Amino acid sequence: MAIEQYMPDFAVERAYDVTLASLQKEKIKAVFVDLDNTLIAWNHPDGTPEMRQWLHELQYAGIRVVVVSNNSHERVKRAVEKFGVDYESRSMKPFTLGIDRAMKRFGINKNEVIMIGDQLMTDIRAAHRAGIRSVLVKPMVQSDAWETQFNRWRERRMLKKIEAKYGPINYQKEM
Ligand SMILES: [Mg+2]
Repeated sequence: MAIEQYMPDFAVERAYDVTLASLQKEKIKAVFVDLDNTLIAWNHPDGTPEMRQWLHELQYAGIRVVVVSNNSHERVKRAVEKFGVDYESRSMKPFTLGIDRAMKRFGINKNEVIMIGDQLMTDIRAAHRAGIRSVLVKPMVQSDAWETQFNRWRERRMLKKIEAKYGPINYQKEM
């Protein structure tokens, strides 16, 4: 289990720090984004104003946004309907099921998409497996009902391993 399989290509504080300009510079046509603690949080179920503004901006510019979540269809649908974005539920991250489905569904090539998520063990690992680039963000809130203690522990342990070898993750202001 090489830790490189859990290394994000980029790291920013929030999903909306992945700016339209930087996506265009990287020739990215689609953004796959994790739901819980990346796009919304229990205390921000409708997203923050910055997050909603970012989604509008991307969609307006013709960048396809697809929420790729491990959660159930019902929950993901309810959570993202208001944003008017596409979604994949039961994505099976750290496996590539949801990512593969979304790429096929919208005819997106690997080099045209980026996966944004708050978890190394699921979001970033799945992106590596699928052969697409990834962006790590900080979890919107530290205690999330959807996350188990065990997952948090595994996540922290991996972060420590990466930082021991490569130094602290440097969260940029822009991708
Ligand atoms: Mg998450």
